[in-house]
Amino acid sequence: MLPPDTLDDIRSRIEDNRRIGYPHAKSLLDNAGLNKLQVMADLARKKQVGERVSFINNYHLYYTNICIWGCKFCAFSRRPSAPDAYAKTTDDIAEEISQAGSDVSEVRVTGGINPKLDLNYYKRLLSCIRDRLPKVHIEAFAPTEVAFMAYKSNLSVSEVLLELKNAGLGSLTSGGAEIFNPELRKKLCPRKTSIAGWISITKTAHRMGIPSNASILFGHLETHDDWLDHLFTLRRLQDETGGFNSFVPLCFLPANTEMDYCPQADFSEVLRMIAISRVVLDNFKHIKFLWIYYGSRRIKEVLKFGANDLAGTANEKYKGVARSARSGSPASISRQELVSIIKDCRRLPVERGKLYEEKYVCH
Ligand code: SF4
Repeated sequence: MLPPDTLDDIRSRIEDNRRIGYPHAKSLLDNAGLNKLQVMADLARKKQVGERVSFINNYHLYYTNICIWGCKFCAFSRRPSAPDAYAKTTDDIAEEISQAGSDVSEVRVTGGINPKLDLNYYKRLLSCIRDRLPKVHIEAFAPTEVAFMAYKSNLSVSEVLLELKNAGLGSLTSGGAEIFNPELRKKLCPRKTSIAGWISITKTAHRMGIPSNASILFGHLETHDDWLDHLFTLRRLQDETGGFNSFVPLCFLPANTEMDYCPQADFSEVLRMIAISRVVLDNFKHIKFLWIYYGSRRIKEVLKFGANDLAGTANEKYKGVARSARSGSPASISRQELVSIIKDCRRLPVERGKLYEEKYVCH
């Protein structure tokens, strides 16, 4: 049970735009019922971003599913010899992008750690998108992918980022953060870039004017204390650089992974995560809900718990991380459907542009 005076203190801090410290956040997460947590998160959402709910018309491009890092929670990656492994050529990508639609505002690019691809390939990939869709924003590559590019090309991270930026990179994706607890990271993804590496690459990108996004992978072996450590680390980092566009909570989907013995977390845990991230991350304007992980039917619930961005229309031609793990979601959602769901929640739908600026209010 959360003592009433603690809850009152948290409420008045949110109302007065004062920070919630670790002890209050821990108390709220450990002791408050879902209803009380929802009320605090919704209050924080109203104070921080008001009634607007944003989304973008985007396209998800996967350039390769070959990966040598073998994270235990991953349903997307394939060994190079797997029958369904692929690495797209730039001609394949050019053709795919030509079919993506000229009204797309963002192309989101992700893939595995494929040792056969070099920096020239990544630059050609970006140029190929930019040549076909010159106005589009390219959100591409996680800091972990950048780390591998630097290692493989024997260049510094800043040299790699500069080359990518000149080729069209607009921002980095939210991938690779997973969970910051080093012991868990060793168990789940021992080959992946360390937390210190992820943070250092993120800081370098922000210093160079390349924004990024942050995520957490939860619902596996972690504890609520791990959630808080992760969130407070991100809050400090955002205080320092101001370079994050959004926070993206990702619930682990066990199907088709090495950890398929884990039970799938209950959706109430997703709601708790979204709520506590809204309360703690007072310097992240956008708490993003990736509907493709959970299905659009969940959107109405998460909007009550502090989320204010619904990512994009997706338009996946190939299966990404979520659908590889049988999320059950379709490959895309129409603008009209998103607008209608948002309006049903009595919130204001906003189609956003490349860096979260408002393009249209969808009346
Ligand atoms: S999560 Fe990323 S790095 Fe890890 S195995 Fe999957 S594709 Fe590779």
